[in-house]
Amino acid sequence: MESLPHSKVRRQIIIYLVEVLTLFAIYFTSARFGISLNAVGQFATLVWVPSGTAVAALLLFGYRLWPAILLGAFLSNLFNGAPLLAAVSIGVGNTLEALVGTFLFRNYGLSHDLDHVRDVLILVLLVMPLSAIISATIGVSSLSLGRAISLSSYAPTWSAWWIGDMISILILTPLFLTWSTWSRPRVSIQRMAEMGVLALFVLVVGLVAFLGLLQTDQRSYALTYLVFPPLIWAALRFGPRGTLSAIVALSSLAVVGTMQGFVTFSSGSVSENLLLLQCFMGIIAITSMFLAAVVAERRELERHKDEFIAIANHELKTPLTSLKGFAQFLQRRFVRAGDEESVGLLLRMDAQINRLASLIEDLLDVTRIEGGKLQFHEAYFPFDELVDEITEEAQHATEKHNILREGLAKETVYGDKDRIGQVITNFLSNAIKYSADSNEIIVKTAATDHQVSLCVQDFGPGIAKENQPYVFERFYRVDSATAQCHSGLGIGLYVSREIIKRQGGNIWVESEKGKGSTFGFTLPLKEKA
Ligand code: ADP
Repeated sequence: MESLPHSKVRRQIIIYLVEVLTLFAIYFTSARFGISLNAVGQFATLVWVPSGTAVAALLLFGYRLWPAILLGAFLSNLFNGAPLLAAVSIGVGNTLEALVGTFLFRNYGLSHDLDHVRDVLILVLLVMPLSAIISATIGVSSLSLGRAISLSSYAPTWSAWWIGDMISILILTPLFLTWSTWSRPRVSIQRMAEMGVLALFVLVVGLVAFLGLLQTDQRSYALTYLVFPPLIWAALRFGPRGTLSAIVALSSLAVVGTMQGFVTFSSGSVSENLLLLQCFMGIIAITSMFLAAVVAERRELERHKDEFIAIANHELKTPLTSLKGFAQFLQRRFVRAGDEESVGLLLRMDAQINRLASLIEDLLDVTRIEGGKLQFHEAYFPFDELVDEITEEAQHATEKHNILREGLAKETVYGDKDRIGQVITNFLSNAIKYSADSNEIIVKTAATDHQVSLCVQDFGPGIAKENQPYVFERFYRVDSATAQCHSGLGIGLYVSREIIKRQGGNIWVESEKGKGSTFGFTLPLKEKA
């Protein structure tokens, strides 16, 4: 095996030493800070940054950084007055805590993004309690054996130690891990604005709920419920990373408030208050982390589904094009041979292929909309001409209905003619499809100074009021016998709404059960330059 060049080895040693020293400095300072805040039985504290930091550091940089933890825990406890042997033993316990936590995290293959319910479950039920038990038990037992704490304070010291470490591993480890995977995506202005408003909201809630802003009676428990709205907002919109950032911000404000005796949790001594607070924050953190994971999982599933639809569409389109080509080839042959019956059958086959192609095209449009890739080719075109053309085509497709054409817009519209035509076709084919028991459909166009409008009215079964708000949603089909017996994917109106929205117009439905429906849209008029 080739040995590494000398300079490379030296560089690696220096990097390693820098990493160890940095972690040691963070561990030592935050440990001193935690103990100085408030210590139960002089040694255990409920605000314990080191544990969560240590597990995150080992997960991100490897087990090899363990000496930093050993040294940090040993020195901070020695300085805090622990007997030498007890300080060594605490150092070992804290190091084991981080090593075991890291091992469990890796062994169960938890993702650094904490974006799966399973990952949060394992963190909460296994990694967090188990690793913290090791440190609390070794630490408090060695202090007790070294007579640094009395036997009577064993239990409160142990529980403060355990809870402090758990909260730290629950909140801080995931915070560092989720930020370590951040890839600086391009963020839209709207999203930045939303983040800004949420950050402000978190700050205001923190100040009101934990620092006594706006109130004189500081013991109102009801105010602590204020933490839910911003955390739910963060979980729904900004995933585990956003949620954890909000939790840490709120927790920090809560700790400051409790230390100052400001808040809700201020009925007993500082350590009792902190115990109550940390239990409260722990439960809130677990709840919102689960919510964030559920939302993240759902998003991922949606993405997979969209990818699947896109691939499936592509795979379906290729054979369909060949099928169409062969059908046309056969048709020409049968025409030459004078076989009328086969030509008729092939024409019907061609119509079915066209129907399939348009369904696939609709599905493709859905994936284009989801990916923000719906293309528009805009130009000026006479609106009435387009409506007449499509009405005529629709009339050919139905023998039962008489499609009446009313009104005239007499305007030239600027937009994508094919896409707008797609919306009108969709309105008309729905009207034909869903009003099989009536025989009249009205297509009306009109114009004002600023816009043109189109309505398609049918006299079919209509749509119940409670279902109307959803008909433009993706994959929505009114759950009635009517929809059941008509083929469809529930995407025509969704695509139509997107087209009209992108063209700057409005789309709507008016309907009364049993009397029929009117679907309509308006499009803005643009002056020709
Ligand atoms: P699809 O017709 O393929 O199911 P759409 O998105 O075009 O999908 O329509 C969504 C749902 O709205 C339909 O499933 C149907 O239940 C309802 N709907 C649409 N147009 C009408 C209509 N003219 N009359 C009654 N119900 C309608």
